[in-house]
Amino acid sequence: MDLKKIDPASLAIRHYPDPVLRQVARPVDEVGSAVRNIAERMIELMVQADGIGLAAPQVGLPLRLLVFSLSGKAEDVHVLINPELCHPQGSSEMEEGCLSLPGIRAKVRRAAVCTVWALDLEGNRFVMDTVDLAATVVQHEMDHLDGVLFIDRLKTVSRMACRRGLKQLEREYVGR
Ligand code: ZN
Repeated sequence: MDLKKIDPASLAIRHYPDPVLRQVARPVDEVGSAVRNIAERMIELMVQADGIGLAAPQVGLPLRLLVFSLSGKAEDVHVLINPELCHPQGSSEMEEGCLSLPGIRAKVRRAAVCTVWALDLEGNRFVMDTVDLAATVVQHEMDHLDGVLFIDRLKTVSRMACRRGLKQLEREYVGR
């Protein structure tokens, strides 16, 4: 994939069951202006959609890149390139939603605390300790990089409760 050929303006949020959401994303091998432009567009799309996190596969790019902002505002955004999760600890359950699964919400159990290593938009490596909502968002978005959706992590009863919503999205999906 030549990132320089991607027009950021053409990127849009993909909905389940778009197959790109199931791909395992590949690492970003060069942090340059092409990646920065893609990240900018992802931030714009996330803020427009009132989201607090967005991963590149959700805009059709199977790349290990994600953005999140706990306030939902552009000024609070974090950009994580090639993130790696370390030391997950504890357990917490939070209700989650996903911009790729509109209308669906369910409680998901995840680690309550985790550390993440990543590259920033300048290509510098940094470490971030996350707890509570930040830990949940980071784990949710990192799942996207491995083709995993939060509905995959539900217990049977919650999964049953989401079935109607998923069927609706399957009917609405027209492909691209
Ligand atoms: Zn999501």
